[in-house]
Amino acid sequence: MTATNEPSFRESVDLMFNRAASLMDLPPGLEEKIRVCNATYTVRFGVRLRGDIHTFTGYRSVHSEHMEPVKGGIRFALAVNQDEVEALAALMTYKCALVETPFGGSKGGLCIDPRQYEEHELEQITRRFAYELAKRDLINPSQNVPAPDMGTGEREMAWMADQYARMNTTDINARACVTGKPLNAGGIAGRVEATGRGIQYALREFFRHPEDVQKANLSGKLVGKRIVVQGLGNVGYHAAKFLSEEDGSRIVGIIEWDGALYNPDGIDVESVRQWIVKHGGVSDYPDATHSADGAAVLEAECDILIPAALEGVINLTNADRIKAPLIIEAANGPVTAGADEVLRKKGTVIIPDMYANAGGVTVSYFEWVKNLSHIRFGRMQRRQEEARHELIVSELERLDRYLGDAWSMSPDFKSKYLKGADELELVRSGLDDTMRIAYQSMREVWHNRDDVEDLRTAAYIVAVDRVAKSYRAKGL
Ligand code: GLU
Repeated sequence: MTATNEPSFRESVDLMFNRAASLMDLPPGLEEKIRVCNATYTVRFGVRLRGDIHTFTGYRSVHSEHMEPVKGGIRFALAVNQDEVEALAALMTYKCALVETPFGGSKGGLCIDPRQYEEHELEQITRRFAYELAKRDLINPSQNVPAPDMGTGEREMAWMADQYARMNTTDINARACVTGKPLNAGGIAGRVEATGRGIQYALREFFRHPEDVQKANLSGKLVGKRIVVQGLGNVGYHAAKFLSEEDGSRIVGIIEWDGALYNPDGIDVESVRQWIVKHGGVSDYPDATHSADGAAVLEAECDILIPAALEGVINLTNADRIKAPLIIEAANGPVTAGADEVLRKKGTVIIPDMYANAGGVTVSYFEWVKNLSHIRFGRMQRRQEEARHELIVSELERLDRYLGDAWSMSPDFKSKYLKGADELELVRSGLDDTMRIAYQSMREVWHNRDDVEDLRTAAYIVAVDRVAKSYRAKGL
């Protein structure tokens, strides 16, 4: 819970924006123009369910249209409100600018507890919400392209895309109206894992820079690092799984809605995930200590803390007790502006949300491009690439025969080298490249400017500067 004397989520984002803007040379009018949300649409609609009419409230906020379409997820949660949706839309603007996806920022939400409804009821509600948004071009391939967020996923995106297609029967680009769709409905390989994968690539890039690692009072690489993750939803699960299975990190703590698991020797992420699917929570999971007070584990001894659940979980009530020297914000806005200041003073390094969780929108961008080009990535070049590799391999085989025992090809070289990249590999490579380049643009500001203490301020400076340039080019 956020302390009551703390600013709201949107005010918190504004405070962080202002901190960065005060270090930039923006005309005051333009600064204000960038900060404010352009428009927020509120809709109340009724759906007949179980014999009664149920009224739902939904929002779609558009923060900045310096580039169109605008982009951002739609969340289904009871706590959704205008302030939150506007804060999240603003973060989308900065996120897209930082990772160079050519979109403005938007966000949507529906006040609903999805667990209270049957699948066919949810479909009715989602389609109706999509209808209301599409009617006003708030779902549209060239204007506003939603995506999954908390409480939504491939299934909801497929319903929305189909609803838009029904309303726009001659739009050849209809599939590009939302991203995060299932593969068989125009989705792209690797979108589901994308945000978690992005966290892994972000941390790998961070650990490629020893000076940065040292700023967090850490050393070495990701292998052996103790990690606490809050939230084993889509983002937290994939991040923790990849970091433990592929980078040798140790997941020592997992925080969920019904308490936390802790085991200094490491917890098997996949088996906890299966446990949650079966039992609904982490209680009684056998291979770790369970504590009912989950939030207390945010304060546990570890090297890296990954808040991957809600906003505002690190706030003035607990910031001074957080021990992790490195925090990577997988959720949007998990650290309040007040907590950010406390942690900065303590020397904690925070890899900010607008960069850390940008993997989702990056792969959404690839999906949107795929939909507009009407062809799967790699379809034209894969076999041609393989044929060219075949030429080299056959030359190497000739050499192999000629040199006899003196030299031979490594056993798996041929099969590895011959294989042309499929869509998933191309998506991962594009994501990796994006995460590396965006980190480097942030760290350049962090290291080169004496007045910039932290990565968040650096991220805002890079992002806001790009948005400002875009507005200037439009004559503003
Ligand atoms: N909801 C995700 C986010 O907050 C993804 C947005 C998108 O793919 O457009 O970044």
